[in-house]
Amino acid sequence: MCGIIGVAGVTHAAELAYLGLYALQHRGQESAGIVALDAAGRARGHRGMGLVQEVFPPKVLQELPGETAIGHTRYSTSGSSVLANAQPSLVHYHTGPLALSHNGNLTNAVQLREQLICKGSIFQSSSDSEVLVHLIARSRKKTPEEQILDALGRVEGAYTLVLTIGTAMYGIVDPRGFRPLMLAELNGGWVLASETCALDIIGARLVRELLPGEWVKIENGRVIDLPQLPPQRPQRCVFELIYFSRPDSVVFGTSVDLARRELGRQLAREHPAPGADCVFAVPDSANAMALGFSEESGLKLEHGLIRNHYVGRTFINPGSASRTTKVRIKFNPVREVIEGKSIVVVDDSLVRGTTSKGLVSMVKHAGAREVHLRLASPPIIGPCYYGIDTPTYEELIAANNTVEEIRAQLGVDTLGYLSPAGMLHACGDSEGRFCHACFSGNYPTAIPKRRAAASEQDETTTITDTNLVHANQ
Ligand code: AMP
Repeated sequence: MCGIIGVAGVTHAAELAYLGLYALQHRGQESAGIVALDAAGRARGHRGMGLVQEVFPPKVLQELPGETAIGHTRYSTSGSSVLANAQPSLVHYHTGPLALSHNGNLTNAVQLREQLICKGSIFQSSSDSEVLVHLIARSRKKTPEEQILDALGRVEGAYTLVLTIGTAMYGIVDPRGFRPLMLAELNGGWVLASETCALDIIGARLVRELLPGEWVKIENGRVIDLPQLPPQRPQRCVFELIYFSRPDSVVFGTSVDLARRELGRQLAREHPAPGADCVFAVPDSANAMALGFSEESGLKLEHGLIRNHYVGRTFINPGSASRTTKVRIKFNPVREVIEGKSIVVVDDSLVRGTTSKGLVSMVKHAGAREVHLRLASPPIIGPCYYGIDTPTYEELIAANNTVEEIRAQLGVDTLGYLSPAGMLHACGDSEGRFCHACFSGNYPTAIPKRRAAASEQDETTTITDTNLVHANQ
């Protein structure tokens, strides 16, 4: 998954992009990058592996002058976790530098890549986003907008983009609108960002969220609406509301916090736990859901698990550590809340089941009398091909086991998953605007071919040194 941002018409744009990326860190922790454009149209970029603050010490930011900048944080869902795949991509294009930040996955990237390679394209990365750069650059159409449209006409899947060609910045959302993109105003300039939390941190004022198929050009201080992309049925990713976006954001016109509370309330209606003593969340993603469960059920809300906030997703577990030890590194139970009690534990989702197995064993050791696990989303039965990093069918616990088998494997007294209808209702879906393929198996596009070509390239090419890239007009 990824977080993207663009800032135009504001001095020190790279510093604002940096702050925005900082707020979007939850969308990707593997790599970060910024490309800035100065008044002379010179582009300078810096990308690196790691967290935003690690990749951008103050000195590096000072070397990125200009009033336009775009940024990216990445967690790989296509291509491997290597510097070559970090974004924004920056290339020499015939009318000036072209920089691109992409959130989503193209479902036909492998076929397009094979075709482009046959025509002589040389790829520097295995990420599907580079396919877009090649398609734009190779288009025979005349204007940049026509070339972008030409390229977009050939790709399928999820693409929310912030890109610059010369000094013009574009914000684009694919016709199904899988991933969010906000347009905001800041001191006479403009900002594009994945989530509203990135606008709050820089004091930008939300103007509107781009609709599925919408794209805009920002140039000389003006926002120009470009003709809508060919329409498709909207497919907003419901997992953005369940897990991915930050609770202080508004995405798809919905407060993430309020949606999560409602998911928790609906869960309590569908799977109450009469006789339990209290309810608590697996922090932090399920906090609002446990609050909703408590409000609806009347069960006392407790803090039964404390999370260590210094454990990132890139934390390397000691190889020989048991499952419980691995979970203990991240969570610790509050024994006084748990001992002798019948507890309801609310989590947002169950993916492989490994965290829950460890957590259940941990709360039992802390003296829980009964454990009732409640999940604020339905069983995940298939991978996501549109940008969320869910594992393969083989690894998904609910793709291979019944709910009763999962209950027995986790060792809980009762297990309750939210129903698909309950999930959609809680997320305010009256018009069928959400993609729920990972829960329903109903994929709105053809499913991609295996990514053999891409992973082979990662094995044969490694970038170990420079991560500072330049492009001149
Ligand atoms: P698991 O142990 O694989 O079942 O992981 C379940 C936990 O992972 C839940 O607490 C979720 O909050 C979290 N989670 C859900 N989706 C993802 C994802 N795509 N990447 C990382 N963590 C996730």
